[in-house]
Amino acid sequence: MPLESNVKNLSMNNIELWQSVLAQMQFHISKANFATWFQNTEIVDKNNEKIIISVPNAFSKEWLSNKYNKLILKTLHDIDDSIKELEFVINPQSSTNAGKKTNSVINNSTSTNVGFSSKSENERQQEDIQLKFEEFKINKETNLNPRYTFSNFVVGSFNELAHAAALAVADSPGLTYNPLFIYGGTGLGKTHLIQAIGNKISDEAKKKKVKYISSEKFVSGIVSAIRTNSMEVFKASLAPIDVLILDDIQFIAGKNKSQEEFFHVFNSLYEKNKQIILSSDRPPNAIAELEDRLRSRFEGGMIADVSLPDYETRLVILKTKLQEKNSDLPEEILDYIAANVKKNIRELEGALNKILIQNKVNKDLNIETVKKLLKGFIFSPFDIANYKKIIETVAKFYNLEEKNLFDPTRRKEIVKPRQIAMFLLRKELKYSFPAIARKFGGKDHTTAIYAYKKILQENEENNKLTEELNLIKQRIYSG
Ligand code: ADP
Ligand code: MG
Repeated sequence: MPLESNVKNLSMNNIELWQSVLAQMQFHISKANFATWFQNTEIVDKNNEKIIISVPNAFSKEWLSNKYNKLILKTLHDIDDSIKELEFVINPQSSTNAGKKTNSVINNSTSTNVGFSSKSENERQQEDIQLKFEEFKINKETNLNPRYTFSNFVVGSFNELAHAAALAVADSPGLTYNPLFIYGGTGLGKTHLIQAIGNKISDEAKKKKVKYISSEKFVSGIVSAIRTNSMEVFKASLAPIDVLILDDIQFIAGKNKSQEEFFHVFNSLYEKNKQIILSSDRPPNAIAELEDRLRSRFEGGMIADVSLPDYETRLVILKTKLQEKNSDLPEEILDYIAANVKKNIRELEGALNKILIQNKVNKDLNIETVKKLLKGFIFSPFDIANYKKIIETVAKFYNLEEKNLFDPTRRKEIVKPRQIAMFLLRKELKYSFPAIARKFGGKDHTTAIYAYKKILQENEENNKLTEELNLIKQRIYSG
């Protein structure tokens, strides 16, 4: 059955539609961002091509329309391709009780969801939405998300060492491996695993004080403590902690003052046999600009990596997620997803979610439709990046000849594309910095590191560069 938009319009009301969007959004943005920008939002009206979303204040409106407009629109459009436009309206009365709010939306709605307005159905939907937000209920004391547990963490050869070490640490914190250092690529379960340790420890009767902090938050805590001359207060707040979990510690690289303060925090916890758990996107010896004394501390405990799951494990992960969601899908479809979505576990989950949403509105989902829906998740052998493609595409994008990229010049028009090429070789192909340096005429590899960092940072701060990078990547991957 083709995915006719009118079929979807009839079967999905505004609440369901928004719920589906929220479910998808969590795969694209961090949980903290999700909680900040998407709570107390809802679809208040839908007139064919245009969707009107109410937000609680002007700040949210600005953020959502500037930062997330495209993503929300694309997500909506994927579900219902008749949707072409978004409008954000401020509704300051936006209740914190999503259930109460959404109820009034259903009753006041003038669109085509008459079939869904029976009371019990409303109640069910409210519960659903409540559950969705439940997932984002972070424990205020520990900062842990209760969703991340050992029981829903799938183990395979790709992560069994990390899992075993995590279990050992959860069983006797401070006594086995200290620190525990988990590293691996994005979306491979580092956060899940280190939070599972925290959840297990803090669930136990013998109450231990657990704290999960993203390294970004940790660094900004240190920076503001320095600024306000309150370092002692900051340190005192960490002193009673029994288990300190710092996520994405690579973030501390190059931040000298923070490293220095962290070194002291680390030592004082360590000396008291308090457990320290760290995650990073790379092993300690590959974190550039990390003080030696910290590196050696990190290497003093247990280091374990998480890598990519194989096909069988991907299938198990899909089935576990289905069970968690109380849903089901035909074996053939699961098999297709497991065989084709290989990038990481976050993507695997995203793909599954997308199919589940469609399955809700289109019961006859077939493999052809699934293939179409998952296009963005799957790389064919032809669209994998390689060295030649990156150089070719960057040069073309900036109207240069390929050889210009290797010119030993400081001309701005050349330097920037050259740095972007280096950045992409690192980011997309995982080239080592010395290897990049060799490609660019045997330059010192610190030049490659500098280029990578510069583009990484500018990418955060400069929308224009982000857009250029996205365009270049699209070209690299599309032909
Ligand atoms: P990372 O921190 O490495 O970027 P996350 O821990 O955020 O990755 O994992 C991304 C998503 O994949 C999360 O929703 C997580 O629950 C899920 N996930 C990762 N590894 C596993 C696993 N082994 N079993 C089940 N789910 C997993
Ligand atoms: Mg993470």
